Amino acid sequence: MTEKMIRVMWAERPNELELRHLPLQEVGVNDVLIQVGKAGICPWDLRAFSGLSSSVAFPRVLGHEMAGVVAAVGENVKFIKPGQRVVPDMGVKCGVCKACRSGRENRCQNPHFQQFGGGFADYVRVPEKNVHIIKQPSTSLKAAAFTEPLSCVVRGQNMLRLYPGEVELVAGLGPIGLMHLQVAKAFGARVIASDPVQERLVKAKELGADWIVNPKETDVAGMIKDVTSGWGVDAAVVTVGSARLVEDIVPMLAPGGRINIFAGIYPKDQLHIDPNLIHYGEFIITGSADSTPADFNVALNMIESGQVNTEILISHMLPLEELGKGFEIVKSLKGLKVMLDINDLE
Ligand SMILES: [Zn+2]
Ligand SMILES: [Zn+2]
Repeated sequence: MTEKMIRVMWAERPNELELRHLPLQEVGVNDVLIQVGKAGICPWDLRAFSGLSSSVAFPRVLGHEMAGVVAAVGENVKFIKPGQRVVPDMGVKCGVCKACRSGRENRCQNPHFQQFGGGFADYVRVPEKNVHIIKQPSTSLKAAAFTEPLSCVVRGQNMLRLYPGEVELVAGLGPIGLMHLQVAKAFGARVIASDPVQERLVKAKELGADWIVNPKETDVAGMIKDVTSGWGVDAAVVTVGSARLVEDIVPMLAPGGRINIFAGIYPKDQLHIDPNLIHYGEFIITGSADSTPADFNVALNMIESGQVNTEILISHMLPLEELGKGFEIVKSLKGLKVMLDINDLE
């Protein structure tokens, strides 16, 4: 019997990418084999590929934002069936550590990420418990491929504990910021969307931003004072890795204001904030990173219900072999989400 060969975009070491044909591994008894349809490129993938993340081991197949179709299931798999359209959660959690047992699976002490290979390939394998079924036939795989980044956004917005009618500032309107905007709206907030790139502001308006502001042209603090009658913003999320931006935004918070440092900040940096602002303002400064299976479930529901439009965030669709070009586009910060169309599945 001849082995079935699959394509993977292999990174032997940082900054080295090649198309390899590897034999398709047998699916483990508890695992699900998924033929990848669409896979998004995340800035995290670029950072890891560039060798800037010390926690990422090589060789490696990157890619953790995808959707596809179940090709085969292991003999112990009970609920997932071949042919189902699904989204795999590539973060495989141990389920028994203190983090997992306290509802913070995103901080699992024993994650198995590498073992299962990444999504820049024809197929991926994950345990059955990591497979989320797409319920609506009308939900496209390219829309569903945003489930992972959206799950992080959902977690980030939950941290802000919004009340309907509050005003939130979303700083940075890349694909992530444009999802924060939509989730904040779905949670009942009014949103001020801020970014120096004009096209992104236009997109934010289209997606329901109540106010848009270009910090290169307008004094954001003054604008916030105007639209909130001097109160400030009840919540803010910083989606770009900039300590200066965090320092700028903290004084714009209203009494009781919450701010989420959503993006990692590299190179490492320090914050300089007058602690009296936090004390007298009763501010909550928080962060959020990655997501739990519950966040994943909410994210996919929000895509399927149409509350978050993700397809509109795709600026480039490339074949698998052009992953390197995709990384270049992400690096150049042009456009929005760069996605790979891997097996022409819809
Ligand atoms: Zn990602
Ligand atoms: Zn764990």
